[in-house]
Amino acid sequence: MLKFKIIAVVLAAGAFCGLGVAAAPNADDPIARLLSGGTASEKRPTAPAKPIPAFQNAGPSPGAMPVGQAPVVMSARIGEHEDRTRLVLELSDPVNLRTFTLANPDRVIVDMPQVSWRLGAPPQPSANGAIKSYRYGLFREGDSRMVIDLNKPVSVANALVLPPSGGFGYRVVIDMFPVLQAKFESDAGWPADLKQRESDAEKAAMAMAPPTGGKKIVVIDAGHGGLDSGTSGVNGSLEKDLVLAEALRLSQMLKTRGYSVHMTRDKDSFIPLPKRVAIARKYKADLLISLHADSNPDSSVSGLSIYTLNDGRSDREASALARRENQSDVIAGVDLSGDNNPVAPILINLAQRDTINRSSRFAESALSRLGTVTDILPRQPHRSASLAVLVAPDVPAVLIELGYLSNRADAAQMNTDRWRANVAQAIAETVDRHFAPEPDTQTATAPKPKFQR
Ligand SMILES: [Zn+2]
Repeated sequence: MLKFKIIAVVLAAGAFCGLGVAAAPNADDPIARLLSGGTASEKRPTAPAKPIPAFQNAGPSPGAMPVGQAPVVMSARIGEHEDRTRLVLELSDPVNLRTFTLANPDRVIVDMPQVSWRLGAPPQPSANGAIKSYRYGLFREGDSRMVIDLNKPVSVANALVLPPSGGFGYRVVIDMFPVLQAKFESDAGWPADLKQRESDAEKAAMAMAPPTGGKKIVVIDAGHGGLDSGTSGVNGSLEKDLVLAEALRLSQMLKTRGYSVHMTRDKDSFIPLPKRVAIARKYKADLLISLHADSNPDSSVSGLSIYTLNDGRSDREASALARRENQSDVIAGVDLSGDNNPVAPILINLAQRDTINRSSRFAESALSRLGTVTDILPRQPHRSASLAVLVAPDVPAVLIELGYLSNRADAAQMNTDRWRANVAQAIAETVDRHFAPEPDTQTATAPKPKFQR
């Protein structure tokens, strides 16, 4: 489920009046605190001009920057003028940014080397300007990204970097000018080098994996990550963090039970949906378990549910969930115009029907075991939907919505160690049962021992 994280936006009322010159430092201003190193009354030392490092995104990823060394984004401001919408990012160090646009949904993507985001609590952007909402975060190791959803088509001028002055750090100014929709659409699309890089990354993910020596292979997929936070809980917890913690626990548990386990992500980074599928196929996974948490406008809705793939003929609620979960790549600014569009209608062949049947058996078995340790969604806890992460035709796959972060009791228990351990244990036992050899009715002389809970 998605909920946009809106960055700290300072809306200049009326005319955009420079870079916050009107804002005198005060104790409530997080930017002022940051600038002064803790107390708002001290004066910020003027940073010496630094050379601007080369833009990294076009080349191979430079890898994660050590904590404390990445440039810090300290504030963001929007100015709404008659002729343009202006976005200003204030940074501790100069960085080169690259901007490009993607259509349907219309977005502006701002790519930069890995930065550390330290923005305060955000007001909503105004509906009058070009910016509808936006979010930011790690796109992958070494690369940060901001994705801006647009109210209207724009063309983006080259980003301008200003040196520190007037008590402010380095500022990057991005101007967005209104254009006709047709012009926007003809300009939109991924730069060719980025497109190539994505397709290389996907091919690399598909490359042959080493043999596992007869062990069953399970791929654990923690939903969302990086600049896609998923849904956020009534208690402030984020889906991406919750499911990663549970995925790490489950992965460890399955390893100690003798499975060969791989994770699509083991840290807070964004992984496009097709790449998650590619990872499962690369390892020739016997099972893919994708972990998520849901959200509902009705805060009384609670309980765990499990989804398996279908061919698009979902009920309304299942379709709505598929739209939410398939949205991940849109949120992170991934190009959906290619052949591997995860939201494209899914054609299910005969081989895939067998995969779906196996997935459904796992889902039913998991629900009966999980029902002993957590609440299950009362009505129809096993549903099927066109979920992009489940489409590998040869990998049985389930997506578990662990509970509702919009429900106070669910959100609270999901944060407890006891609940997390019980749920991981129940899933691990279901995996055991799923892979237990079928009883051979021809030669069996004694009844096979029942599966132990
Ligand atoms: Zn989710």
